Amino acid sequence: MELGNLIYSTMKNNPSYITKLLGLCILGSILITLSLAANYNDGPYVFSKGDNAEVWWLCNNQKQVDRVENYQGATVEKCGHKARLPKTEPVEVTQLNIEGDFKVLAASDIHGQFGLFLAMLQRHKIVDHNNRWQFGRNHFVITGDIFDRGPDVLPALWFLYELEQQAKERGGGVHLILGNHEVMVLNGDLRYLHDKYLKVSQVFGMNYADLFSKQSLLGQWLRSRPALIKINDAIFAHGGFHPQLAQQKLTLKDINRSFKSSLVKNELAYPRQGLAEYLHKTDGVVWYRGYFKDDGATEAEIEMLLKHFAVNKIIVGHTSQEQIETRYEGRVIAIDASLKKGKYGEMLLIEKNSYSRLTLDGKKIPLF
Ligand code: ZN
Repeated sequence: MELGNLIYSTMKNNPSYITKLLGLCILGSILITLSLAANYNDGPYVFSKGDNAEVWWLCNNQKQVDRVENYQGATVEKCGHKARLPKTEPVEVTQLNIEGDFKVLAASDIHGQFGLFLAMLQRHKIVDHNNRWQFGRNHFVITGDIFDRGPDVLPALWFLYELEQQAKERGGGVHLILGNHEVMVLNGDLRYLHDKYLKVSQVFGMNYADLFSKQSLLGQWLRSRPALIKINDAIFAHGGFHPQLAQQKLTLKDINRSFKSSLVKNELAYPRQGLAEYLHKTDGVVWYRGYFKDDGATEAEIEMLLKHFAVNKIIVGHTSQEQIETRYEGRVIAIDASLKKGKYGEMLLIEKNSYSRLTLDGKKIPLF
């Protein structure tokens, strides 16, 4: 039977079918119209020009531009969005090994869910109700993927950028490390942008990645962040460390340097190659999922990684779980607790040798 005849006979024998089909079409067009008609506010996207900055906003789907003289340390605000601009230019992170007697908090995969993320930080008194650092001389690691999926990426970026400065002034630290979604957006892979950011791109008449160019303050900051960090006896990365890295006796500095040297493809003199190419692919630090697969890393390979990097924990995001979980008898900790779904999230707290899950509703639950 031809397709046309098949459809005709289905409709004839089942009149409710056509009603349902029509209903779905109408619902579909309403949803499409609503998403196109949504009224968005966003920003700021800030581009430095000497001591001055050009500040771009999206206000009710219209582009607005402000010019700010002596922008460093200034606060800019418009149509419900606000940012404190950094007092100094970002410096490439080269200190990848931090040691000391302090607590370590770790969160991952915020994916535009800034409201939930902030609520979690406030409930656990990491920041106060004015979003200011309350975590003293302690350290906070965010293992990447601020970008994509959700609608509140810019507020999360500006908040963390400012928090980094506040923490430093109080003798603590905020360490944002790069995830695959930071690398994707910087490289113009925009498949997971929320509609709001498609609208920004359309109204500004430019590729969304160009809003994070080397001239953009957030672009400069992201380019200066590392792909991994070691704090006391734990190493952190977004995806993880493939056992091959230990087999090849690469140091954390080697891995980070090579990864960072080829971060943005269209800024390179020649294509990624060798180790740099490997590190940006599926087995590399921002994409690896081998701790969560039956044919992934073996117990012996995890031992080898821990020994090689002189740590006893590997802490990663990227592979989403319902809550913070452990693998390999607690030697690997998975901290992406699916904040991206916009409903729930957790953070990991390390106090000496004790590990706890900090829940969205303010509870502290031992991990082991
Ligand atoms: Zn990821």
